[in-house]
Amino acid sequence: MIKVAINGYGTIGKRVADAVAAQKDMRVVGVSKTSPNAEAYIAQSRGFPLYIADLSKKPAFDKFGLPVAGSVQEMLKEADVIVDATPGGVGEKNKALYEKQGVTAIFQGGEEHEVAGFSFCSDCNYSEALGRQFIRVVSCNTTGLCRIINTIDKAYGVQKVRATMVRRGADPAVIKKGPIDAIVLDPATVPSHHGPDVQTVLPRIDIVTMATIVPTTFMHVHAVQMDLRKEATRERVIDLIRAHSRLGLVRKGPAIKSTAELKEFVMDLGRPRADMWENGIFEESITAPGKELLFFQAIHQEAVVVVENVDAIRAATETIKNAATSIQMTNEALHFTAIR
Ligand code: NAD
Repeated sequence: MIKVAINGYGTIGKRVADAVAAQKDMRVVGVSKTSPNAEAYIAQSRGFPLYIADLSKKPAFDKFGLPVAGSVQEMLKEADVIVDATPGGVGEKNKALYEKQGVTAIFQGGEEHEVAGFSFCSDCNYSEALGRQFIRVVSCNTTGLCRIINTIDKAYGVQKVRATMVRRGADPAVIKKGPIDAIVLDPATVPSHHGPDVQTVLPRIDIVTMATIVPTTFMHVHAVQMDLRKEATRERVIDLIRAHSRLGLVRKGPAIKSTAELKEFVMDLGRPRADMWENGIFEESITAPGKELLFFQAIHQEAVVVVENVDAIRAATETIKNAATSIQMTNEALHFTAIR
């Protein structure tokens, strides 16, 4: 049983905690918070021991009837692996603590590649992650790009990728960032950081990305164009997507042409928190004129990296030596079958 603690129980941390708790080979030994907000109540209701970064804030938790198990340092002593899901940049500061206590840590995409020295996507480089003390699960956009680029690269060879990211303005509960009434170039310069980030996982890929932010909270959409080394057919690309357990196909049948309809669809499927752990590749958009491939895909920013975190825990602890087995275990424990 791998003992896992989650440092930073927010958007990503609370999802990773639930995904870890669902696995047969893992146990949540603690989660940490900085303030007694609604998520602290959820942690308590799930039975996760609650630790706090700053013990001087314990009276605030006591006041709301939230028992505190101890400090983050004490939480680290209970765990084999820490999933650091604190806001971007905080993980880098926490690293010294993990080094001091000799604990294994999984960082998130808000940290620079150098913080862990190794960037991870389950079906791209699991074997290289085996036994590492520090692993960084790349961001939601990068994970979504890596999954499909790696799949197409293995089948046809990818010569180059050009992609535009239409990103959600903020996560649904982040009211301080809205309302926004603009399409923001983020950044106005080319490339955006997403292309170089893909190269931290797939260094062989020639990729340039551009990015905007739009006033929506659920999902990013990518417009992707790839030049291939061999001719592709639309039918085979669809077969490749169907064969991948974390590439979802948004079929023509349900007539979904927006993230809003896609969200409704995954809610109706009964997914917890309406989470879409897979890429949502729009079947109708898949076009393969010769040695070229174009498509749109939706990426649920709060969800796609959750399953990769679970696999990263197994790779770091070397409890499962191959990617396919871990991916299958993770998906099955979540009763997750990609949309088709
Ligand atoms: P969040 O703000 O929703 O949650 C962060 C949590 O960490 C909060 O509960 C906060 O109270 C807590 N925290 C802050 N400082 C802390 C400290 N010093 N010690 C312990 N806990 C602390 O952030 P998030 O969206 O979950 O992002 C976490 C990481 O995941 C970031 O690196 C981010 O870039 C990455 N990520 C986020 C998304 C997304 O869309 N939200 C997607 C992929 C990756």
